[in-house]
Amino acid sequence: MTAPARVTVLGAGILGAATAHHLARQGAHVTLIDADTRDARSTTASFACVNGSAKSDPDLCALNDRAVEEYRRIAHTLGAAAVRFTGQHFVATGPDSLRIAERRVNAACSRGYGGEILPVGTFREREPHLRLDTPPLAVAWFPADGWADPEALRAHFLTGLTMQHRKAIAISPSGSGRLQITFADGDRTDTDRVVDATGAGAADIELPVSRPPLHVTSGFVVATDTDRDLVTTVVRTPQLGIRPDGPRRALLHSHEIDRLFDHDRTTAELAAETLLDRARRMFPDAGHITPRRITRGPRPTPADGKPAVGESAILPGYYELSAHSGITLAPLLGRLLATEILTEFRDPILSPFRPDWGLSGNVTRSVDGAR
Ligand SMILES: Cc1cc2nc3c(=O)[nH]c(=O)nc-3n(C[C@H](O)[C@H](O)[C@H](O)COP(=O)(O)OP(=O)(O)OC[C@H]3O[C@@H](n4cnc5c(N)ncnc54)[C@H](O)[C@@H]3O)c2cc1C
Repeated sequence: MTAPARVTVLGAGILGAATAHHLARQGAHVTLIDADTRDARSTTASFACVNGSAKSDPDLCALNDRAVEEYRRIAHTLGAAAVRFTGQHFVATGPDSLRIAERRVNAACSRGYGGEILPVGTFREREPHLRLDTPPLAVAWFPADGWADPEALRAHFLTGLTMQHRKAIAISPSGSGRLQITFADGDRTDTDRVVDATGAGAADIELPVSRPPLHVTSGFVVATDTDRDLVTTVVRTPQLGIRPDGPRRALLHSHEIDRLFDHDRTTAELAAETLLDRARRMFPDAGHITPRRITRGPRPTPADGKPAVGESAILPGYYELSAHSGITLAPLLGRLLATEILTEFRDPILSPFRPDWGLSGNVTRSVDGAR
């Protein structure tokens, strides 16, 4: 009998956790390592809307649709961590957001994901506590979207796995055809395969190959306690994203605030106050909206906006795994990557997301089979 493959997963955010979970389920000997930089973990700061509605690139749409399906397929195994498929309202109040709403609805309908432009009155009936300064021009409705509790989901995937708290600083080939990981404390270890799911931390790991470039910005969410349930669905307006977060709890986020406060690391409190002010203005009859937790985290995005998934052609055994919308994609990408590592079956849906590796310089995309 052959010994199980020894796979080291670096990074225990949602992508690393899901991959480690599936590797272990499929019989690998998994070592999970995380630098435990909680304040630098994207997963902890995520708005965690699980959706197929927000993409425009056809390959990404196909991937996200399948990722949402994956959540439905495994819902019975997730228990309390299961996605709440509440649907999402996207509220357009100006010409730009109107164009986005119409484009998303058309795209979702044409590929069978489901979406419609709702009469504004229907939206008001569904979310009666919400008041907008500017009346909506249109409200797009995506019934297949939902939200997840990212920490509950992460905990689910980590169940039964042991984690080592260490920071990797280098990965290199070792003489025996394996890979060697060097840690910040100077210790080294050999392994058959490495999955690099370190998110924004990846830039700190020295590699003999250039990895796909990541663009790292930062984002904020504010978890709130409220006197009543503010919304029953995920609602995105140009000023504020808000979703339920359990009974009398809501989560607040704004892309605009993320951009405004991205460069100043001292302003988390101010960003949170701005989000809370917007929420209080939008829900004037809701009573108290009190912050329970303010979280700032990095948002690592592969520079071309697409996930990067797969083995390096130059450093065999080294697998890259990075993605924006990682909450939506993690269960699917984790399962597909684990299968690929252990069986070499490469699911065609990942073909557009293969990084093309160089010894140095730019990394571009390649398509499976083209190398
Ligand atoms: C404000 C905000 C809103 C978002 N909204 C959504 C959304 O609505 N829907 C959606 O799908 N996605 C959303 N995202 C994106 C999503 O949260 C991320 O894509 C996802 O969490 C990335 O997960 P990850 O596992 O790659 O990274 P992370 O969660 O950052 O995990 C990386 C882990 O690697 C560890 N690490 C780092 N360096 C090292 C090292 N050298 N050695 C060992 N370990 C290391 C870190 O400690 C960390 O635990 C949002 C993100 C933000 C910030």
